[in-house]
Amino acid sequence: MGLLSDLPNIQIQDAFEDRSGNYILTVISTEKGTHCHKCGKRIDKLNGHGEFIEWRHLDILGKQVYLRIRLPRYQCDCDGQPTTTQHVRWFTRRSGFTKAFEQRILLSCINSTIADVAIKEKVSYELVSGVVDRNIEKSVNWESIKKLDVLGIDEISLKKGNQDFVAIVTGRSDDKIQVLGVLKDRTKHTVKQFLLSIPKQLRISVRYVFFRYI
Ligand SMILES: [Zn+2]
Repeated sequence: MGLLSDLPNIQIQDAFEDRSGNYILTVISTEKGTHCHKCGKRIDKLNGHGEFIEWRHLDILGKQVYLRIRLPRYQCDCDGQPTTTQHVRWFTRRSGFTKAFEQRILLSCINSTIADVAIKEKVSYELVSGVVDRNIEKSVNWESIKKLDVLGIDEISLKKGNQDFVAIVTGRSDDKIQVLGVLKDRTKHTVKQFLLSIPKQLRISVRYVFFRYI
């Protein structure tokens, strides 16, 4: 199903529209096993499931989409036989958003304010600013990026009418835009440090860099 193509290893079990017109999708993880949180060993002895958790995902046809999932838990045979809830790559723990939705929030912050994004995406101000904060100076998984073509460096205004800006770096390749990083400020030094952190083989794939702020 295309709409969840950016969420690997899940299957839709049930879908309904709630009274507010939001789509609620109950999904299951088709991935088996996880790593023990205590000893790090790969484990696959199932030991029940966690509570239902819900993440907001990308809208479909203007409707908000929420994914409900009970993640499997696995038991290890190391000291104390601890259980570990499966870790899935497509969400950020405790954020309430899938990574795809977080990316969307960050992209809509470009040349906008957090307050405006909160209204536009129907998310609270605190949650939007939480997404920005969490992504500041986060290390980039360069291995997942094949080429960059066009780099965009834009500003995010943290407060309306305030001169407090962070910078957001995006990469565009084959018409796909992705957020590469959120920088703590937009000074020359910070931007330069970030650009130098791009691995050489990717850096040479960059054809244009756009700075969209003064
Ligand atoms: Zn263990």
